[in-house]
Amino acid sequence: MSIPTYAPGFDQVTHELRTHAHGRVHLPGDAEYERQRDALHGAPAVVVDAESVADVRATVLTAHRGGLPLAVLSTGHGTVAASDGGLLLRTSRMAQVLVDPDRRTVRVGPGARWGEVVAAAEPFGLAPLSGDTPSVGVVGYTLGGGLSWLSRKYGFAADSLIRAELVTANGRLVVADRHRHPDLFWAIRGGSGNFGVVTSLELRLFPVPSVYGGRAEFPADAAGPVLRYLAAHADELPDELSVSVVAGPESVVIRAVHAGEGGRAALQPLLDAAGTPTSDTFRRMRYSEVSTIGGTPPITFAMYDELSPDTIAAIVESGLTVEVKHCGGAIAHPAHDDPGPVSHRDARFVMKIAAPAADAITATATGGSFLNFLHDTTRTHTAFTPENHRRLREIKTAYDPANLFRGNHNIRPLA
Ligand SMILES: Cc1cc2nc3c(=O)[nH]c(=O)nc-3n(C[C@H](O)[C@H](O)[C@H](O)COP(=O)(O)OP(=O)(O)OC[C@H]3O[C@@H](n4cnc5c(N)ncnc54)[C@H](O)[C@@H]3O)c2cc1C
Repeated sequence: MSIPTYAPGFDQVTHELRTHAHGRVHLPGDAEYERQRDALHGAPAVVVDAESVADVRATVLTAHRGGLPLAVLSTGHGTVAASDGGLLLRTSRMAQVLVDPDRRTVRVGPGARWGEVVAAAEPFGLAPLSGDTPSVGVVGYTLGGGLSWLSRKYGFAADSLIRAELVTANGRLVVADRHRHPDLFWAIRGGSGNFGVVTSLELRLFPVPSVYGGRAEFPADAAGPVLRYLAAHADELPDELSVSVVAGPESVVIRAVHAGEGGRAALQPLLDAAGTPTSDTFRRMRYSEVSTIGGTPPITFAMYDELSPDTIAAIVESGLTVEVKHCGGAIAHPAHDDPGPVSHRDARFVMKIAAPAADAITATATGGSFLNFLHDTTRTHTAFTPENHRRLREIKTAYDPANLFRGNHNIRPLA
């Protein structure tokens, strides 16, 4: 990969950063630069390894003055755009996690990962709306929506956001919540890193002393019956229960988490539809143990209103490993009266394949997508309704008219 030559005046940029940022500033050619940038980020001109809000502000202001694009990297799990020639701001070292058990909240820095939050909340019988993988970053996941095993019961992680502090494109540190910058508060609950660099989030925690969870494996010919059962009965399943069926050429796996009492009884009809398992690991477990159940990082992600017989037949005949998950519950009916821009909440099923799409499988998909599982940034708009996308662009225009924050699922300012 070629390293860009610096624009005239670039020495000034690095001088400014080295003067004002206390964190480390890395340039091409230095060993730490190679370690700190993610391969997917291409060749940023400078990497800033921030350790404080002041570092974040100094980096944003430098990018703003120099007209340089800025990308943020916490874990690199959600890197979708190169930041060639721009500034790459690393937040991994700002990983504070502070649980308030009385208020059932957690406050995190921009480098925090879900595993650390789950571990800090668990002793109090509390859990966040984290995903299936502990190493995923709290901020990137939440700003992109955040689909959890607990989402049918409590909503998207973005719905659990109480307050954010972020540095906007002009270098101001602002607080966004229901009362302060409510437009910004709306936009960041699903509009990703387009509106500023988040320096802290306060999130709601939920009473989850334990869950009933695990996975059961069946012969491959169970795929048709179990998917047909899910298609017909998904709406009858309790909101506490979240199920995914992974149909593959060798076997079918039912993964599930039930956040309450009576998990086995709620799950049994689905297991019965699949027949006799070759293995069954379901048991009562700590919430931190749901990471052992697994997940499918998708290359293809699609949403459906119905799981039609043709779609089920296409899945079964595809020879691919396809994960189907039902939605509904608090995903479709958020508690908040003005939930953020995460759209397509009424999709009843989502599907993930760790391979390129097979047309027959996606033929009846809605065309909608979910930002956290979208690799193709040219399709960013498909994660939103046209109305929500328009509102996001208006808010982007107000807070980042020059599109400084564009190394992401970019929402462009209005022309
Ligand atoms: C193994 C794996 C499992 C996953 N499981 C789930 C799941 O169960 N549910 C789900 O919803 N998603 C899941 N995801 C998707 C994940 O939520 C996204 O990839 C998310 O973007 C990761 O965020 P990050 O901070 O870890 O990644 P990063 O690459 O560090 O950040 C991703 C993007 O988030 C934005 N961002 C990060 N930090 C900031 C900040 N401080 N200020 C402003 N913007 C910021 C930036 O645009 C950045 O490009 C999974 C991903 C992987 C790789």
